[in-house]
Amino acid sequence: MENKYELIVVGDKRHDGLFYTAVKTTGIYCLPSCTARKPARENVEFFQEALNAEAAGYRPCKRCFPNVLGVPWHDFKHFIELEAPSEFSFEECLVYVNRSETECLHQVKDGELVKFVQFGDVNVLLKIRKESTRLRIDFLNGHPPKWVRAQAAKYVFDWFDWGTDIRPFYELAANDPILQVLAEKYRGLRVIKIHDPFECLCWAVMGQQINLKFAYTLKKRLVEAYGEKLVYEGEPFFLFPKPSVIASLQPEDLKKLQFTSRKAEYIIGIAQLFAEQRLKKEELAAEKEYEPLMEKLMSIRGIGHWTADYTIMKCTNINCAFPLADVGIHNALKGILGLSDKPSLEKIRQLAEGWKNWEAYAAFYLWRWLYD
Ligand SMILES: [Zn+2]
Repeated sequence: MENKYELIVVGDKRHDGLFYTAVKTTGIYCLPSCTARKPARENVEFFQEALNAEAAGYRPCKRCFPNVLGVPWHDFKHFIELEAPSEFSFEECLVYVNRSETECLHQVKDGELVKFVQFGDVNVLLKIRKESTRLRIDFLNGHPPKWVRAQAAKYVFDWFDWGTDIRPFYELAANDPILQVLAEKYRGLRVIKIHDPFECLCWAVMGQQINLKFAYTLKKRLVEAYGEKLVYEGEPFFLFPKPSVIASLQPEDLKKLQFTSRKAEYIIGIAQLFAEQRLKKEELAAEKEYEPLMEKLMSIRGIGHWTADYTIMKCTNINCAFPLADVGIHNALKGILGLSDKPSLEKIRQLAEGWKNWEAYAAFYLWRWLYD
């Protein structure tokens, strides 16, 4: 420990990524090489990973951006660029994010993706487009400071799951009768993540037992009623509502938007868990094991297997989550295999046996097939 403290005093870049330094008095964590004033020894705590520091309640430093380490971004001040990994197709991802015309949390137009996000108290409207092997991100509503540009780089990196090396998935798919075709057809598609587990859980609850079209309608009503709005060139862009806002609602408020009583109660209940910090985004993100996460999510009222698997798939880096009961997966398999009926759950379990540890990608590629 004493040794680590000496390393941060020296501030050598070679130790970046090997550990993280958190300062109890400020609630901020840093890279060992950070040039900010060195904290006193007794106030310092060390972490192996940035995610663990965040799960312990620390926020990333606005000078050294410890959570952006490893993200290949280039800063041009008025815009940034990200180096795309091999096996990435922006076009394929756009097909997926553009699957509903009722989507209210981002916009796809002429091959560009526009999304309103918030870092700290800074509102930014990101415009993302492809530029040869890079993604270029413009900030439409002003010139944010460098720490915000860094967070934007990390946001896009995570959104398209660039932290996952998907080559093993393609190796597995090459020998699988179902995935082989999908992997070739949609090469470069990545699981599109949802950064906020609160949003993800609400979205999954909204989608229970109704068709996707109506689920999008419910989401739009909720977002337009309770989400923050940014108007840019006369057009409104929205954030998903914050837990604190939804936690203070009564079920009647959501029933007016055509939520069932049960869904209204579930969503308000989930919002209360986040608002009271009994459930934390950072803690969920830092969990690496499937089972404890599943157990934690399933203990929440309104969260069954499907919702928990969906959330693990969309909010974490765990790729073995497989929402077995998903109607979309059933329909895709029926179509791909040319069956007259949807396959039984037992049959799907058999098919999925060869997809070990890549079930989330298999599910995502099956969903993608539905949007051709
Ligand atoms: Zn720092």
